[in-house]
Amino acid sequence: MRKIFFTPGPSELYPTLAKHQKAAEILQVGSVSHRGELFKKIFQETTENLRLLLGIPRDFHIFFTGSSLESMERIIQNCTISGSFHFINGHFSDEFYQIAKKLKKHAEKIEVPNGSGFDFSSVKIPNDSEIVCFTHNETSTGVSIPISEIYKLRIRYPKKIFVVDVVSSAPYVDMDFSKIDIAFFSVQKGFGLPAGLGVMIVSNRAILKSTLLAKGNYNVGSYHSFLSFLEKEKKYQTPETPNVLNIYLLGKVAGDMHKKGIAKIRDETDEKANIIYSFFQKHEKYRPFVKDSVYRSRTTVAIVTGGETKSIIKKLKKSGYIIGAGYGKYKDIHIRIANFPAHNKKDLVKMMVLI
Ligand SMILES: *Cc1c(COP(=O)(O)O)cnc(C)c1O
Repeated sequence: MRKIFFTPGPSELYPTLAKHQKAAEILQVGSVSHRGELFKKIFQETTENLRLLLGIPRDFHIFFTGSSLESMERIIQNCTISGSFHFINGHFSDEFYQIAKKLKKHAEKIEVPNGSGFDFSSVKIPNDSEIVCFTHNETSTGVSIPISEIYKLRIRYPKKIFVVDVVSSAPYVDMDFSKIDIAFFSVQKGFGLPAGLGVMIVSNRAILKSTLLAKGNYNVGSYHSFLSFLEKEKKYQTPETPNVLNIYLLGKVAGDMHKKGIAKIRDETDEKANIIYSFFQKHEKYRPFVKDSVYRSRTTVAIVTGGETKSIIKKLKKSGYIIGAGYGKYKDIHIRIANFPAHNKKDLVKMMVLI
């Protein structure tokens, strides 16, 4: 039986992916040189389609990393001398903070209980925090930060570099790039691709910071620094031998999403999210983990099961539906359901009525 993956990542593959995988095989994408002409074309098409889909301005650069954890490390290395500031309300936001600490930076944080929102009006960011790091959609707990709160805070701190992890909210999140400096995601979540590729969207302001660090003899990383990415980007290349196949597939899927229309994709995501939340609001046993609807994720929903996670997962699996367990300490008491562009309403409803 063919399974349908509602897991938060890796997740269900985008419906047009199989077609592009076949085309890639015919083109022998897996064997082409990353210094050759075909790769340059692939690089151009993929970055162009991402710009069109997400509305990325020309003064932002698109860099390819191995994963989003790598992107976090590169961002800390390239943008901080003294320190970073982190908004923590779950596992992935904490991971960003831990990476800064492991790189021996002075990392500060505001931390609220898992699944809660932040009181932005009372936040004070220290002078020596040069970058401010947000996890827009905390996949571990299904809590999301209203993007407008991030913009408002940047008005209060115009000199700092604002970094937004949109790993599990892209391409749904509608970002105004004039109000942030760096965003990053991995392809195995909302883009419906196999894992193994991270995408960093980096402003010239952040590049300037990295240049200052490099000139000041700070460690900005070896083969992957903002400057090494930038130099190769001019030639439509990457510093290392990259995941050429996934860069190709990402370009094709981004192109298909653009053809379908990002507004339509966002509307469908909202419609499906409303179906999920209203279903669980009325459920006799299970409830959304995030109580305040303002902070509820539209793309990765966490549900409290009262310890019945294992039996729910087992039951759904029998019908071919794979959903996520809770993250970390919530393993046996939450379920997580992804709501990405690859998930259609019909399958979602068929799966949910079994819960
Ligand atoms: C999955 C995830 C990551 C890590 O992505 P990798 O591709 O595994 O490096 C980071 N942040 C968030 C919010 C995630 O959901």
